[in-house]
Amino acid sequence: MLEVIPILCRAGQMDNYAYLLVDKNTGTVAVLDASEAEPIIEECERKKIRPQFLLNTHHHFDHVEGNAELKALFGAKIVGAAKDKSRIEGLDISLNDGDVFKIGDSEARIISADGHTIGHILWYFVQDKVLFTGDTLFNLSIGGLFEGTPEQMWNSLQKIKQLPDDVLFYPGHEYTAYGMNALEGEAGRKYAEKVQKRLSEGKPAGPISLGEEKECNPYLKIDKLQDFCRLFN
Ligand code: ZN
Ligand code: FE
Repeated sequence: MLEVIPILCRAGQMDNYAYLLVDKNTGTVAVLDASEAEPIIEECERKKIRPQFLLNTHHHFDHVEGNAELKALFGAKIVGAAKDKSRIEGLDISLNDGDVFKIGDSEARIISADGHTIGHILWYFVQDKVLFTGDTLFNLSIGGLFEGTPEQMWNSLQKIKQLPDDVLFYPGHEYTAYGMNALEGEAGRKYAEKVQKRLSEGKPAGPISLGEEKECNPYLKIDKLQDFCRLFN
């Protein structure tokens, strides 16, 4: 069983989330997207835990900048996409689409998701029904196309749409508020109620289930490639 602890990084600037992943069976700990070292070290000290792995979704600085310091401090291994081998500094373990990576007894399946970058990966813990989407999928929006084409992003989003509705997803940034005005209908009302309550308590808006996201995220609601591509013209 996997415990997920969000850590807000670059608060008020880029509002990144790093996530502490704790495998409850073995006590094995990983950090996903070490955005900056300081808040992550503080949380590890508070919880008296030492990460063994630093997992990455993609090479952008706001997702990897804490890697070097955490690797030095904890002796943790940096894990990311083989395609990012030359772009994620100090990468120790490189993974490809379909690979399985274990945090103790918790198994993640790697899903390649080009679009935001080429080489972006999603971390899908199948048994735990947990998905880390990095800068591919946010609450109510998606990541910008820095390297990929609209078609590549579309393909990546279709992979997410095919996953079960009861999977909870954890995005790379807290951008929920920007998408709220697009919410509509009964599903939208419920979504707004849930995330507004959490945000007003100073918590992350997520996690939200993929089922709820499919109903409310305007980019996931589009079901024709043509219509999706038109957004980027
Ligand atoms: Zn990014
Ligand atoms: Fe980012």
